[in-house]
Amino acid sequence: MALGRRQLVSMLTILLCLGFMVTAVANYMAARNLIRQSIVDSELPLTSDNIYSEIQKDLVRPIFISSMMAGDTFLRDWMLNGEKDVSKISRYLGEVKQRYGAHTSFLVSDQSRNYYQADGLLKQVSPESDRDVWYYRVRDMKTAYEINVDPDMANMDALTIFVNYRVLDYKERFLGATGVGLSVDSVRSLINEYQQRYRRMIYFVDQKGQLILFAGPHPAGSNIRKIEGLDKLADTILAGKEGAYEYQAKGNTTQLLNVRYIPELHWYLFVEKQEDEALGGIRRTLYLNLLISVAVTGLVLLLVSIAIKRYQERIEAMALTDKLTGLANRQALDMMVLRDMAEHRRTDMGLAILLLDLDSFKNINDKYGHLAGDAVLRQVGAVIRSQLRDSDLLGRWGGEEFLLTLKRTDLQAATTVAEKIREAIEQTRVPYGSETLSVTVSIGIALLRATDTQDSLLNRADHALYAAKRAGRNCVKSGE
Ligand code: GH3
Ligand code: MG
Ligand code: MG
Repeated sequence: MALGRRQLVSMLTILLCLGFMVTAVANYMAARNLIRQSIVDSELPLTSDNIYSEIQKDLVRPIFISSMMAGDTFLRDWMLNGEKDVSKISRYLGEVKQRYGAHTSFLVSDQSRNYYQADGLLKQVSPESDRDVWYYRVRDMKTAYEINVDPDMANMDALTIFVNYRVLDYKERFLGATGVGLSVDSVRSLINEYQQRYRRMIYFVDQKGQLILFAGPHPAGSNIRKIEGLDKLADTILAGKEGAYEYQAKGNTTQLLNVRYIPELHWYLFVEKQEDEALGGIRRTLYLNLLISVAVTGLVLLLVSIAIKRYQERIEAMALTDKLTGLANRQALDMMVLRDMAEHRRTDMGLAILLLDLDSFKNINDKYGHLAGDAVLRQVGAVIRSQLRDSDLLGRWGGEEFLLTLKRTDLQAATTVAEKIREAIEQTRVPYGSETLSVTVSIGIALLRATDTQDSLLNRADHALYAAKRAGRNCVKSGE
């Protein structure tokens, strides 16, 4: 029975846990896939689109201003006339800078190699200087202008875009380069917003894999070929393959990445999101679900255990209890007498067995009916119980026979108890309808001997009881 209960409970545990767990994990997986899909398919590409269009928008103005400067007849005439009055050109550059809110404006003459700014002549460009490489590139290029982003400005944070426009004379001969430099603050604030509010990492990588400004999660100036996880993707990305990527970053986090090429700047725009961070919410839900599952499982099991235990106890009690008197039945008595015998053999203390039989009980049944007999039996049981100690064992042995054991008792004490019981029963009046019934009892006593078996002990009690009946009933006798 106990094994069955344990088996049932373990099976329930397994079933409940499995059911809850499968549901919770399946829900988590479905939600995770949805979230991943929305990050990869829409969130990251949309961010990339927005940043790109903001960059394009920011580039329109400086290109327009620079083109206007390169075609300006004053500027060209001033150069063709031998760059005579520097204050005139610096005033011109100053006005452009002021009117359009440019970061800087400049003019380089191919004739004199002079570099003019709003403040006047700054310096001369030289093919040997690293900082002037751009000028010689512009001088030889086929297109009208180039966009050059200088990450090495004094102010590291300001992304400054230079538009370098070629200036031609009226016969299309190269005169020099002019243009403006603008800081693209709007792109910057957009990127900041995305980084902070949406917790996406946004950074630019040049064609060599070098990280530029807005370094995002990685240190500025590092190369994606040297960044854990990205290194494996570097070749594919730098070969010009845009799109969605996924990689394991340092610390074993999964990064979801969108790469887009920005042709105007010759840069790659990287928009990245850490998967774990995006899944934090549903992961917490998963843990909560599992916790609730464990709690519910525990509670259900507790209730089931209690219910089964009570049920078992009731069945066991029913199997060992006499229904009429509520006392132990013969089966229970058998077990308990054996137990008491074993206990007293160990301790070598006296154990007395009393066998009681109601006198002429048939008469009561015959005269008042079976139900009246039952009422008497119930009452007699209660009276005997009331005369005993808690440690004394009492049960219904048969029809109208009771058996009781008295622990740590000798013959004299047992006889005293038996007499007390006999007297109590004699004085008992059982009301039944309008009648009042009374009954007497004969009692046989046997004391446990070292050589006794259960049968021999009970036999002796039975003989003593028989002797009591022969002696005229309503008396106590003890067996040899
Ligand atoms: P004595 O023991 O004094 O020799 O006479 P007796 O009339 O008691 O004789 P016996 O032990 O042979 O009869 C027992 C009677 O008890 C017979 C039976 O009908 C009755 N009896 C046994 N069990 C029950 C019971 O559960 N309810 C009722 N009402 N009567 C029972
Ligand atoms: Mg009898
Ligand atoms: Mg009898």
